Amino acid sequence: MYFDSHCHLTDERLFGEADEAIRRAAAAGVSRIVTIGVGPDDAERALGIARRHLGVWATVGVHPHDAAGADAATLARVREIAADPRIVALGEMGLDYHYDHSPRDVQRRVFARQLELARELGLPVVIHSREAEADTIALIREAAAAGVAGVLHCFSSAAPLLDAGLEAGWYVSFAGLVTFRNFDGGDLVRRVPGDRLLAETDAPYLAPVPYRGKRNEPAFLPAVVAGLAAIRGEDAAALAQATSRNASRFYRLPAEAAAP
Ligand SMILES: [Zn+2]
Repeated sequence: MYFDSHCHLTDERLFGEADEAIRRAAAAGVSRIVTIGVGPDDAERALGIARRHLGVWATVGVHPHDAAGADAATLARVREIAADPRIVALGEMGLDYHYDHSPRDVQRRVFARQLELARELGLPVVIHSREAEADTIALIREAAAAGVAGVLHCFSSAAPLLDAGLEAGWYVSFAGLVTFRNFDGGDLVRRVPGDRLLAETDAPYLAPVPYRGKRNEPAFLPAVVAGLAAIRGEDAAALAQATSRNASRFYRLPAEAAAP
């Protein structure tokens, strides 16, 4: 069994066929999915999908790209939506200094407020970090010290951020990049303890080989897990079980019943 710990079923490239994509995923053995809300409106749509499917849950947060548009009312809505029992984490949130769609100081402030909200609500957080390692490390250290759990999603940074996440007791998640021929992060993939590793598609982005270049979807998760298993020199079926168990633990969902 597989758990797609991070995808965007509400993205315009998937939303119209989200139900079919979930069925295709189930047929491929992907029985659990977390679809990420990148803002309050997006999270409402994600919740709509989660309510129709037993194996689907949602998150709510403000993406760093949209930090500049987030005011007190936005964060109040995040808090309100987070009360839904099918919301399993806050995020994705974080810092993106590659695109700089929002000013960096505003990104940091909106990220810090969401970490504070996560502490208050007792929810884990999903982190997006791109070319912002030092500032991300400072904020996750502070959050972890306050008892917040998190995952570094679609990890593609260098060792310092990975190590800071692991020291914080957090999880690390990898997406289809690990299947690309030019992927050079093998050492980092091997560095994550087996009980802290998650797998994700980040669909519709970053389709794994052999679907590279196509629109990604949760049904392609087995290719990501196979890539991780090859890099780690582990059995793919065992890694599927382990990453699935880890994702259930991280999102605080009951363990899946063993297959009959
Ligand atoms: Zn994402």
